[in-house]
Amino acid sequence: MRIARFSIDGNVAFGAVEGDKPDELVLDIIKGIPFADFELSGTKVPLSKVRLLPPVLPNKVVAFGRNYAEHAKELGNEVPDAAPFAFFKPSTSVIGPGDEIQYPSFSSELHHEAELAVVIGRMCREVPRERVKDVILGYTCANDVTARDVQKREKQWARAKGFDNSCPLGPWVETDLTLAAIAEGITIQCTVNGAQRQLGRTSEMIHSIEDLIVNITEAMTLLPGDVILTGTPAGVGPLNVGDEVAVTIEGIGTLTNKVIKRG
Ligand code: ZN
Repeated sequence: MRIARFSIDGNVAFGAVEGDKPDELVLDIIKGIPFADFELSGTKVPLSKVRLLPPVLPNKVVAFGRNYAEHAKELGNEVPDAAPFAFFKPSTSVIGPGDEIQYPSFSSELHHEAELAVVIGRMCREVPRERVKDVILGYTCANDVTARDVQKREKQWARAKGFDNSCPLGPWVETDLTLAAIAEGITIQCTVNGAQRQLGRTSEMIHSIEDLIVNITEAMTLLPGDVILTGTPAGVGPLNVGDEVAVTIEGIGTLTNKVIKRG
């Protein structure tokens, strides 16, 4: 099931996305929230009549760095051979599909990073490997937008990766993808103004989703709606004002955002 969060006439709701043709998608409005048992209401609205919102409002976004060897190398970093390493993007960095990425005033080198995002479905900590699948609601597309110049010059990445609008998520949460399919490899693609910049497969991840969730929940509790970013494949590159950046993940969909000048 594809679960979208949207607003219509000033109300916010979740809906199950139905249909195959992009122009003819329909939302079946969900009674309640997708983090508990829920029912479909049977009340349907065309997707074209609503505004899609970030599919979840995370309490925190935990992002893992250098999880694809080719990307680590392109930035001149060693490929981590031991434990994964994590950093945070704050809840205020999250925007939805179609929202604008505002170019931050303190950077002149903004980069896209297309990533598979894991959406957590239930409160959890110290999750054993075999239980990881039980704490995942589903998957969505993410762009770990990064002020690369700031990242190089500041020791902590709070500003470089945590500024407002630096975490586009969407367009919806796909709940039918399996850990096995992701381990086998689904494609992650990033285009800027239609030209391909990044193309990778999740099978290239150094640390699996199980590894990442075991690693982070050793340290902290994850809450329903929290998001884990799983790293970016090679090909990161600049974003400029006016660019349209699109992250497409096989079996999920496409997340598109435009870069604008911060007003
Ligand atoms: Zn990243």
